[in-house]
Amino acid sequence: MRPTIARVALPVPLDKQFDYLIPSHLFPVIGGRVSVPFGPKTLIGIVTQLATQSDFKHSQLKEIKQVLDSEPVWSESLFQLLKWCSQFYQYPLGDTLANALPSALRKGKPADFSTLLEWQLTEAGKNQFMVGFGRAVQQERAMRALEYGAVSHQQLLEQEISGSVLKALQEKGWVQSIEKKPEIKTWSSEVEVEADKPKLNQEQAVAIATVNSAQGFGCYLLEGVTGSGKTEVYLNLIKPVLERGQQALVLVPEIGLTPQTINRFRQRFNVPVEVVHSGLNETERLNAWLSARDKAAGIVIGTRSALLTPFADLGIIIVDEEHDSSYKQQDSLRYHARDVAVMRANKEQIPIVLGSATPALETLHNALSGKYHHLELSQRAGNAKPTRNRVLDVKGLYLESGLSAPLIAEMRKHLGAGNQVMLFLNRRGFSPALMCHECGWIAECKRCDAYYTYHQNSNEIRCHHCGSQQPVIHQCQGCGSTNLVTVGVGTEQLEKQLQQLFPEYRAIRIDRDSTRRKGSLESALNAIQKGEYQILIGTQMLAKGHHFPDVTLVALLDVDGSLYSSDFRASERLAQLFIQVAGRAGRASKPGEVVLQTHHPEHSLLQALLNHSYRHFAQTALQERQWAMLPPYTFLTLFRAEANNGEVVEEFMRQVRYTLEAHPLFDETCQVLGPTPAPLAKKAGKYRWQLLLQTQTRPLMQRLLTSAKPAIELLPHSKKVRWSLDIEPQDLS
Ligand code: ADP
Ligand code: ZN
Ligand code: ZN
Repeated sequence: MRPTIARVALPVPLDKQFDYLIPSHLFPVIGGRVSVPFGPKTLIGIVTQLATQSDFKHSQLKEIKQVLDSEPVWSESLFQLLKWCSQFYQYPLGDTLANALPSALRKGKPADFSTLLEWQLTEAGKNQFMVGFGRAVQQERAMRALEYGAVSHQQLLEQEISGSVLKALQEKGWVQSIEKKPEIKTWSSEVEVEADKPKLNQEQAVAIATVNSAQGFGCYLLEGVTGSGKTEVYLNLIKPVLERGQQALVLVPEIGLTPQTINRFRQRFNVPVEVVHSGLNETERLNAWLSARDKAAGIVIGTRSALLTPFADLGIIIVDEEHDSSYKQQDSLRYHARDVAVMRANKEQIPIVLGSATPALETLHNALSGKYHHLELSQRAGNAKPTRNRVLDVKGLYLESGLSAPLIAEMRKHLGAGNQVMLFLNRRGFSPALMCHECGWIAECKRCDAYYTYHQNSNEIRCHHCGSQQPVIHQCQGCGSTNLVTVGVGTEQLEKQLQQLFPEYRAIRIDRDSTRRKGSLESALNAIQKGEYQILIGTQMLAKGHHFPDVTLVALLDVDGSLYSSDFRASERLAQLFIQVAGRAGRASKPGEVVLQTHHPEHSLLQALLNHSYRHFAQTALQERQWAMLPPYTFLTLFRAEANNGEVVEEFMRQVRYTLEAHPLFDETCQVLGPTPAPLAKKAGKYRWQLLLQTQTRPLMQRLLTSAKPAIELLPHSKKVRWSLDIEPQDLS
């Protein structure tokens, strides 16, 4: 019987799907897009089921307006993965599916290359340049934009050349449009460009052989310090995949997607490489998506969101720097791209390689317990030597903008020898607070439970949580005194201080403030490579993805905050940062040195790191996690809620707690922690509370959440607050 009902997942924040009647002239498919009336609006959704019956009377149902796809948008396995994501992360299916579509498809554009229009001059148009364009200013601008060859429709729009101007020129016969369909062909089996590839060392060869000899799904942790040749392993693993005519997906952290990385893949292989990141415009993103789906691309390299790219025939997934926190999405669908990538590889029955010098404790635990295969590269392949590391006890020492005298002396030595010095301070701005010297009053954001950061360069105080800012104040609002002093040190102040301490050297600051402009990070890094600066100051932005061979001294100015943080992952992150920066510095002829300034030189985690290795640290930290019953030995879900009225939020969270504890699945292995005010208890005028649910297994967490969530939605206060679930949260603030 012909189906008469289509069940549609719509991008609305409701955990259900909607039934629509299928008019006799339309033929929707499962997994394809349709447009449907929804209240006064028309929405685009995905058909999840075709049926002949509905729980509703046919007279209550509306008809599908339009069928946008005659075939499913995703392969069956990717569609399954998205459904799994929706369930696992407790996020509505319609929203999850919409999240996975390029915005052009979300808006209803065709899912093929037909939307990729280009414009070019006709012969008549070219001749017109001799004659001139008269007073048609807009038309002349359009003509000039095309003077040197075809330009995409999208690019012209971005130059504010409108479609109607182009239409007018087309009618005059001066320009013509061409459809830009990339030629889709399978690449030849000669995929590799025979460049000067290094000869593999034994560990690399073993790693490659291990992955290649296996069939179907397998998850491999490739643990190797920076420069040990992990990328070389990736390249060697991708080669046979491409030779078989299959494709490869390479995920990199947000900051790791540099031209150097991309070029290594482009230069090695004779196949089209697509790059996917958040900076792409709508057309570029659609183009990359289609290229992968239609096998015009052999390799897709991208950040988190590239994970959900469809492939015609995916053969391997690589996740580089798998411990990086940018793999976790922090809003809407709060997925962890590394974890979902493992699930994807499993569904597609292909190998996945997780690479890192400092594996996440979760990943290491999986490798040590035998769930993942463990491959190691213990030697540095290139010519870099390990760094000399030490803690500098700053107890009782005078700190000049965060710098102790022994450190300043050390810097002088390295700079004097013609080398570069790198300083880390994870706090931007001039100083984290502005205080009255008479009465102790501190300038506070009115909308957040946080102090204002003083930014001297722009002469403002800014809240780093809600973004509000105002001109710097000169008078205490408590006692009226004008004796205001700064408290604490940020990167801006450090930069100023260094100019005074070392006027003969040039310092550069790399943080979110200094790299706001597009391309500014790139050019700053280039200038550093060229040696235009001797002192590099940065937040952790500076630590990732770049190698600075002339840096011989690295100092972490303030590690105490991470040792005694309320976030149980802080010490893991500190260890990862430390290993990362140590890996960035020095080469054989110039061995590097790493200094940690601390008031707690005896701290066990610091000692484990310094005297042994990341692995030693990680095993100590895993022990502690096990004793404290923290992940990866238990599983957490973070409930967050916020509203203008603090009491309502608190009451709602209390009700959530009762709901969970009263649930039949909640047993003695489960625990609720909280509710407590969030670490940032008030943000942008909203009061925030949170609560942690802990279970000993994932399946129990899943069953408990799936069954308790509808009850929570029915709580009297649930409509008065904004609340969300973060499954396996990375950030507890
Ligand atoms: P990682 O990705 O672990 O940081 P890379 O793969 O980038 O390491 O390797 C670091 C450097 O060492 C690169 O310049 C690379 O070309 C080189 N290299 C990698 N493997 C070898 C090898 N077996 N012999 C010599 N040089 C190598
Ligand atoms: Zn604020
Ligand atoms: Zn005062």
